[in-house]
Amino acid sequence: MPLIRIINQQQTRFNKMTLRVRLTAWYILLLGVTLGLFSVYLYGLLKHNLSRQMDRTLEVTVSETLNLLIEQQGKIKLKHTLGSDSVIHNLTEAGFVVRLTSRDGNVWDGFGHYQLLPQFVSQEIGFTNIKAQDKLWRIYSLKISLLNTQGWLQVSQPLQSVSKTLDHLLALMLLSFPLVLMIAACGGLFLADRALSPIERIIRTAEAINQDEITCRINYQGSLDEVGRLANTLDRMLDRLQTALDHERRFTADASHELRTPLTVIKGRIGVTLSRLRSPQEYVNTLQQLDQEVDRLIRLANGLLFLTRLEQESLVTQTVELSHLLEILVEQLAPLAETKNIEIIQNIELNLIVYGHADYLTSLFLNLLDNAIKYTPNQGMITVTTALVDKGVNIVFTNTGLGISPQDLPHLFERFYRVEEARSRQTGGAGLGLAIAYEIARLHQGFISVDSQPNQITTFTVNLPFQ
Ligand code: ADP
Repeated sequence: MPLIRIINQQQTRFNKMTLRVRLTAWYILLLGVTLGLFSVYLYGLLKHNLSRQMDRTLEVTVSETLNLLIEQQGKIKLKHTLGSDSVIHNLTEAGFVVRLTSRDGNVWDGFGHYQLLPQFVSQEIGFTNIKAQDKLWRIYSLKISLLNTQGWLQVSQPLQSVSKTLDHLLALMLLSFPLVLMIAACGGLFLADRALSPIERIIRTAEAINQDEITCRINYQGSLDEVGRLANTLDRMLDRLQTALDHERRFTADASHELRTPLTVIKGRIGVTLSRLRSPQEYVNTLQQLDQEVDRLIRLANGLLFLTRLEQESLVTQTVELSHLLEILVEQLAPLAETKNIEIIQNIELNLIVYGHADYLTSLFLNLLDNAIKYTPNQGMITVTTALVDKGVNIVFTNTGLGISPQDLPHLFERFYRVEEARSRQTGGAGLGLAIAYEIARLHQGFISVDSQPNQITTFTVNLPFQ
């Protein structure tokens, strides 16, 4: 089988492994490599230190032995006094082998098992390793000279103790290595299991979600680590999706309801009219009523279309002369206000300029002014005021009249929400005007708020930033 195919097969198999196994495998691999490198370093360090330690003791033994030397008939020998004998005894007990030789290698004297050492002629001062009787010896040779007699002092110790310690360490490492890796693998699997268990829950929750049902949550209770934060973030995202879905469902239900009402009225009117022959005037009346209902349907469809466009559109801004725009709108609606004897008081600052969409802003202010006229009783009063505030301008519309109760206020900007359905429907409203105003203010990075109480002045405030 070609090598590439084998590698590909291995890769596919590895990709199929669970994250938990993969994490553990990487963990073991890294631990193995680290342990291996550390073991090699430890072994080398110990070997080096043990060798140095042995060399040091050989050097100390040499300097101690130098005090024990005497010259006898052209040879250098060990002196045997009470003090020196005890030193020789101690060094022999400690395993040192000391030998005194002539320059051509003849052994003059010594202590310890110095006969075991092979006869050799030292070439230079320093350390050498020599193999004798299956043992490796570390020998320190020193050229000595006493009363014109010259020779060599050789102090030695078997290297066995060092290699034994090193062998022990090696055996310990080789035995403990797989054991440590096995324990680490179990620990790694356990930890990966614990760390990834919320992910299992996330997967189960995600699988339970479908387009109609997104009520289930992960509800993670553990610590707020990365996985915990992911679980909480997903829960919050699901909350938002649920709100959007509920909103969408309510909107569809409300829109169907709003469309059905005029259609039912139209159907009913036609049915009644066709039930028998009518006079031409009766047909004209019916058609006029149908015309009104169709107008309502068109307004509704236009409102919905406009709202959808607002939601999808990103704003193209231009300079809008706000003061001028407000004055024109008030002027346009003044005849309508006059029909109800409503007085409109303007307090608009001159030369106010904002950046925005002129048509959308016109629509926003028209909605508010139109509502003010619609919901202000005859002989009432409307005011339009502007006020500069931090980084923007407030445009305040007030009107006298029935006011709005506190329980209605939070819902006022929702689509199709009407305070008094019958009254509002009579005035031709579909409950979309304020929702549209709200969207336009939001698109301009501004906001709209309302303040009112039953039978008190109603105030709508639009805030627009200058930039
Ligand atoms: P509509 O098209 O039915 O007027 P809106 O969204 O414009 O719908 O208004 C929602 C409701 O808020 C209306 O039904 C009305 O009861 C109330 N409302 C709006 N503007 C005023 C106002 N200026 N004064 C009193 N009530 C108002």
